[in-house]
Amino acid sequence: MSRLAICPGSFDPVTFGHLDIIERAAKVFDHVIVAVFHNESKSPLFTVEERIQLLEDSTKHISNVSIDGHDGLLMDYARKKNADALVRGLRAISDFEYEMQITSMNRKLNEDIETFFVMTNNKYSFLSSSMVKEVAKFKANVSDLVPEAVDQALKDKFQNG
Ligand code: ADP
Repeated sequence: MSRLAICPGSFDPVTFGHLDIIERAAKVFDHVIVAVFHNESKSPLFTVEERIQLLEDSTKHISNVSIDGHDGLLMDYARKKNADALVRGLRAISDFEYEMQITSMNRKLNEDIETFFVMTNNKYSFLSSSMVKEVAKFKANVSDLVPEAVDQALKDKFQNG
C-alpha cells in the first residue's frame, strides 16, 4: 500500500532546514506533498506562487516529492488528498508547545491522520525563514542557509525594494 505524507508550512521562503525535513520524510513515505499554506498573519515576503516555484526548484532532486498550495484548513486538504500522515519539523524546544497545540487540534478534526515529527539536523536547529529574511534584508550572506534559487530570489526582492 502506498503511503502519502503532507509536509505543510508557510515556506516563506524554503530553507535548508525545511529541505532536511522534506528529504527525511521522502525516505520514509512513498510520496510527499509539500503544501504551501497562505498565512496572512505572518505578513509573507513571497507570494504563494513564488514560494511554490522556489520549492519546485529546490526539490527537483527528490523524485517522490511534489509541491502544492492551499489556503483552507489543513485537515480538509489532507482528507481530500487521502493523506496518511502529516510531517512537521522540530528544531529547538521552543517549537514544542506550538506544535503540540496544532497537533491536538488537528487530531480533533481528523483522528485518522497521524502527525509525525522529524528532528532537524543539529546545524539547522536555529534556522528559520524569518531569521533568513531579517538578515537578507541587510544584504547579509545567507547562501549557506538556503538553496541557490532562494538566495537569488532574496537578493532580487530586497534589491527591488
Ligand atoms: P509554519 O508557518 O507552519 O510554522 P514554516 O514554513 O515556518 O511553517 O515551517 C514548516 C515546517 O518546517 C514546520 O514543521 C517547521 O517546524 C519546520 N521547520 C522550519 N524550519 C526548520 C528547520 N530549520 N529545521 C527543521 N524544521 C524546520
